[in-house]
This record gives sequence, structure tokens and C-alpha cells, in this order.
Amino acid sequence: MHEATISPKTSFYDYIVIGGGAAGIPIATTLSAKYNVLLLERGGSPYGNPNITDVRNFGSYLLDTSPESPSQRFISEGVVNSRARVLGGGTCINAGFYSRGEPKFSEDARLMDANLVDESYKWTEKVMVFEPIVQKWQSTLRTALVETGVTPDNGFSYDHIIGTKVGGTLFDANGTRHTAADLLQYANPKRLLVLLYATVHKIKFKTQGRSRPLAYGVVFADSLGYKHIAYLKGGRKDEIILSAGALGSPQLLMLSGIGPKEQLDALNIKVVLQQPFIGKGMADNPMNSIFIPSPVAVEPSIVQVVGITRFGSYVEESGGFNFIFANLSSYQGFSPQMGGFIFEKINGPLSMGELKINNLNPTDNPSVTFNYFKEPEDLQKCVNGIKTILNAVESKAFSNYKYANMTIKDILDLNMKLPVNLRTHANTSSSLEQYCKDTVRTIWHYHGGCRIGEVVDDEYKVFGVDAFRVIDGSTIINSPGTNPQASVLMLGRYMGVTILGQRIANDKSQ
Ligand SMILES: Cc1cc2nc3c(=O)[nH]c(=O)nc-3n(C[C@H](O)[C@H](O)[C@H](O)COP(=O)(O)OP(=O)(O)OC[C@H]3O[C@@H](n4cnc5c(N)ncnc54)[C@H](O)[C@@H]3O)c2cc1C
Repeated sequence: MHEATISPKTSFYDYIVIGGGAAGIPIATTLSAKYNVLLLERGGSPYGNPNITDVRNFGSYLLDTSPESPSQRFISEGVVNSRARVLGGGTCINAGFYSRGEPKFSEDARLMDANLVDESYKWTEKVMVFEPIVQKWQSTLRTALVETGVTPDNGFSYDHIIGTKVGGTLFDANGTRHTAADLLQYANPKRLLVLLYATVHKIKFKTQGRSRPLAYGVVFADSLGYKHIAYLKGGRKDEIILSAGALGSPQLLMLSGIGPKEQLDALNIKVVLQQPFIGKGMADNPMNSIFIPSPVAVEPSIVQVVGITRFGSYVEESGGFNFIFANLSSYQGFSPQMGGFIFEKINGPLSMGELKINNLNPTDNPSVTFNYFKEPEDLQKCVNGIKTILNAVESKAFSNYKYANMTIKDILDLNMKLPVNLRTHANTSSSLEQYCKDTVRTIWHYHGGCRIGEVVDDEYKVFGVDAFRVIDGSTIINSPGTNPQASVLMLGRYMGVTILGQRIANDKSQ
């Protein structure tokens, strides 16, 4: 692992992987077993950065808007959101909750080998996932959810099963985060080069004399702004794999000349291939939270328990700290240490939007819309999720954590006054529908932009292009499980093993 400044002006590899995140690291690590791989990551290393590794600092980086931050803020429809800029990607800045995707995800993602799916999950779990130590607040909520009817109680499990369960976490018993960068211990150090602060500007395609464009090189800049080019060696099976995430991958495709013609023309980008679906189908599962002030102190914790309802809303929680990073004065005299947040995410939003590039600079955010709650079905799921939370709050199990004289309306009105987004909204709640719309936040599970079946085929090869795949959250049709990272990590490993196996078989037959 080196900073990109050490890289020569040109270099050659069997595989070039763009983006060292949840998908990119497993892919690069796996391919290095036999082939020379370059992994390019625009951010730095997570090691030695306590803001990333120490659970007590969870979220501090979300407030850091400097260019050095491991988290790059973006805002869509007034909702403040965030994307990773660090080796390990989202696994360095996320809430650490780990839960496998439902079997339907593997089907949608065309991962047809069930054994390989299972082995790929286990490959990750062995080094970066832990059973959490569940304390009082989280276990009370678990009991409250079961009392409310989110049954059965499934105990501790990584699996996606209806009912209430304790899931995995990336934080070990000492509160130290284990990120996808830890998977590099599986790599062959002789064959994998990881370059940090290596911002990819463009993927190069050969078009002359060819019926289809061929990916053959990647232009990246180091931290001093010097440009380098990494080329494929030219082997028949050499490939460039784009894993820059749901915002980064469609953005880089467009910057490289593949995308909707009108967008490329608007910025005078030479068209390599017209692809109208790039940047389309962008979805972000809306999250709505309820802060419950408590008469007793709540120990700090982030997501360990989840209620998986039958109607497609998932209930999670965090307690004892300012989980939504609102201004302390807006807590109306209550304190986030005395209380906790229960929140719900809707599964499978039908509301979707679009990603567009604004300029030629890959370090700038593209603009993106998600059209939160445009479709009535999404709003209904949210209302049902909020009702589940309110029932849990009023359950017998939860009574110690709620002021007896505080009504549900008082709680909702307090929450209406906790602004963290840049959306304007009413000051009191007139209906649960309005509450959902006014207090919508993100749970950071945005996905799409290079969806499977539209931009990539069943093997994640970009339609109409040779030697080029996209494998990451941008290809996903529906955010898997209650939280997606388990499935994205699995997808990376699964595809790494598949590509490696096919190439080894091919090499033997030559
Ligand atoms: C704040 C937050 C909390 C979350 N909480 C959870 C949770 O608790 N549980 C869960 O399961 N999921 C959670 N998620 C979601 C999960 O982390 C993501 O779904 C997952 O990381 C997506 O993986 P990916 O490989 O698609 O993208 P990423 O992991 O984001 O990786 C993309 C990588 O590409 C790099 N990159 C982008 N552009 C370029 C470029 N031009 N050149 C070089 N490199 C580039 C980025 O720096 C990044 O490292 C959370 C996400 C966030 C942001």
C-alpha cells in the first residue's frame, strides 16, 4: 500500500480496480491470488485514524466537510447525505451494522451459486464481523419490538428473517472498527498494489477499427495533481473493474464518454458509447427517526437490533448520543445522552431519481435526485413503520425509558423541532404522512445508476464494451437485507472468485 505519488508515469497490470470500497477491496484481493492487480483509491488509509476506528467517534467525520475528510458530504432535495472517501469505503464511515441480504437479492444480482454466496459471506465475516455486546437500551427495544408484534424473536443471526433479531457489527468488543481494508490480509502482497490518494479522472477506451469500445487504461491523479496512466497488459482476459460506488461509478462512466448523449454533449465530452440508463434508477431508502427523551440515562450504542416487519419497513435504533447530529439547542432542554433514537427505513422504494454530472472534475459531487416519497406506496410503508415505533414506545417493556406524562404528540412535536436537513417543514406534526415527508433523512443506503440488466449484463460486464465491468452498489436494483454492506462485500468476493475461476480455466485450456 503506497501513496500514488510513488507511481511511475505509466504502468501495466492484468486487472485495474477503481475504488477501494466494500466491493472493490474483495475483488482486488481475490484476483491477486494469481494475477497482477492495481487498486486505485482516492482517499487515504483508515489505519491510525481514531475517528474511523473508535466507536466513540462514530459520525464525527460526517460533520467534517474538509477535503481531507474520509466522508464527502452531498445534499439531495435538502437531505444531507454522505459518501466515502477512504480505503475501505463505506465500511469506514458507516454505522457498522451487518446483516446478510435476503435470498431474492442473490437472484436479482444473478448470483446463482448458493454455496459461493454463503462462502463469500463467511469470508468477510471471519475477519471483520462480530456479535455485539447488547446492553440495556438495545435489549429493551428488542423486547418492546417483540411485544409490539415484530415476531418471532430470532435471537442473534446474520440472516434476513422476519421478526426481531440481533445482527452483526463491524465493531469488536473493544469498540474498534474493522473495515474492508482488513480483507487485504487475504491478498497476495506480491501481486497487489494499492495506491492511495489516487483519484481516477477517466477510463480510456480504444474505438478505432473496432465494433465495440475496448477498455485499456485508466488516468489518475496523485495528491500533488500529477497525472499517471495505468494500462492493461493486453492479455485476452485483462479487465478494468469499476467499483467507485453508487455516485462514483456513473459519474466516472460519463466522464469517460459513456452515458446519456445529452449529458455528454452538454459538457463537450467525446461520446464513446451512448448509454441512456447510466445515472438512472437512483434510489435512497428514506429513513425517519424518533428521538425519545428518557428519564434515565441511556448507554451509548449504535445499531445492534433490527425489527424486520412483514410490510417492508425495518426498525433500528441507537441510544445515548446525538445520532442525528442536530444542534443541541434544538433538543428543547432534553439531552441526547438521556434518550435514544428509534428509526425506520423503508425497503424497496419505488420512488427513484437520476444522477447528472455538473462539470469535468471527478472530485466534485455529481448532482443526484431520489424523489423521496414520490410514490404513495413508499409513504404508506413509512407510516406503518412509524406506527410500529410508536407502539414499541408505548409498550410495557419500554416504560422505564419514557416520561409517563409525555404523549405521542409531544414526542412527534419535539422531533419536528430537530432539524438536521435543509428542508423546510412545519413545526408540529399534523399527520404521520406529513411527519414522514417533513422529517425524511437518509440511512445512506443509496444505490443504482449502473443497474444490472440496464447497464451491466449478468456477469457485470458493461453492455457494448469489452474488458470492462462495474461491480458495486451502483448495480443494485433494491438495497439488500436491512442494511446493504454484507451483500456488497459478498458481491465483491463472489465476482472476484468467479472471474478468477473463469480465467484460470481459460489459461489452462490455452
Ligand atoms: C454514513 C453511512 C452509514 C452507513 N451505515 C451502514 C450500516 O450500518 N450497515 C450497512 O450495511 N451499510 C451501511 N452503509 C452503506 C454501506 O456502507 C454501503 O452500501 C457500501 O459501502 C457501498 O459499497 P460500494 O463498494 O458500492 O461503495 P463504497 O464502499 O462507497 O466504495 C467506493 C470507493 O470508491 C472510491 N472512489 C470513488 N470515486 C473514485 C475515483 N474517482 N477514484 C478513485 N476512487 C474513487 C471511494 O473513495 C470509495 O472508497 C452506510 C453508509 C454510510 C455512508
